[in-house]
Amino acid sequence: MTALTELSDAELQDLVVQAGGKAFQARQVAHWLWKHGVTDYAQMRNVPARLRDALAAAHAVQASRVRHADLAEDGTEKLLVEFGDGETVECVIIPDGERTTLCISTQVGCPVGCVFCASGMFGVRRNLTAAEIAEQVLHARARLGEGRRLTNLVVMGMGEPMLNLDGLLPALRRIHDPDGIGMGARRITVSTSGYPRQMERFAAADPSYNLAVSLHAADDRLRKQLVPTATSPVAEIVAAAHRYFGQKGREVTYEVVLLDGKNDRPRDADAMIALLGQLPCTVNLIPWNPVEEIVAREGLRRPQTLRVDAFAAALRAGGLKVTVRRQRGADRSAACGQLRLRQSPPPAGAPAG
Ligand code: SAH
Ligand code: SF4
Repeated sequence: MTALTELSDAELQDLVVQAGGKAFQARQVAHWLWKHGVTDYAQMRNVPARLRDALAAAHAVQASRVRHADLAEDGTEKLLVEFGDGETVECVIIPDGERTTLCISTQVGCPVGCVFCASGMFGVRRNLTAAEIAEQVLHARARLGEGRRLTNLVVMGMGEPMLNLDGLLPALRRIHDPDGIGMGARRITVSTSGYPRQMERFAAADPSYNLAVSLHAADDRLRKQLVPTATSPVAEIVAAAHRYFGQKGREVTYEVVLLDGKNDRPRDADAMIALLGQLPCTVNLIPWNPVEEIVAREGLRRPQTLRVDAFAAALRAGGLKVTVRRQRGADRSAACGQLRLRQSPPPAGAPAG
């Protein structure tokens, strides 16, 4: 059964009219879906019962539900979201002072297979639909108490957003649309492991979001070790990232997951300065959050703080703007980038990507 949230505005209008309703009532229904996030037809108070019944006969309200919620001591809340076919993803609500950031997923699993990442360990199972992506925002919003609202959205959960643009683009439109969820585009950041062609398509659709590129290494050979399926040279990825903002001169964020002795050496900093030194950007260093299974298999380690600081200092000395992601309890308990693994490991025989 398709959910109402899966329908475009035009499809919803057709459906309402076919059921004997008026066009303006379709808009009312859409408001209940996206402004109020209702989960039940009975909550659509100004929609006549006859119309509600006609819609309910063929459509569920939402395409997903929260199966499990896990509140960490530091206030971070992780939601396990389940879809009609039983697949799950996680999204994470991360309070931080005045800000409340939500991190959402775009695929079940991930086909990219970065060696350090839990999301990619078992390959990808499927893309999320636009509704399955956007509903994560509805679920998170519904968990927040009075007076709290989501201030920021990061597409940094499970999956590679550029490999599911057909789901992502309409989902972002719905999240951003003032008649939809109504979050400002500048408060939304999409993170990609770097697909120049798809980044062009993303730019053509809407270049108003913030863009983060998971670079990890400025050297092609090293990057290929960390992101084994990466086929584009870093120079092309970086060029595509800066074309995204056109002439606007906005900054790209480059994320670098730091792995001890692998990509945090002085020469790695030098290569990064040579690649990014002249560009409007910030480099965000993320000391790796160890994933047990990966430590055992790949022998990767999180670098000591001193090493992280030295790497940051080297980049700064080369003229780059640098931030270092703080360690939060949330990072340990599984925040962005290492989701779902503990909650629901895939069944034996799951495709290996
Ligand atoms: N696929 C996209 C978005 C999801 S991953 C991408 O790769 O950008 C979001 C971020 O989390 C990426 O920068 C990724 O490199 C990082 N990440 C993944 N696993 C991590 C881990 N175990 N520790 C720290 N960061 C991690
Ligand atoms: Fe996929 Fe991003 Fe994880 Fe790489 S870091 S496997 S692209 S989710």
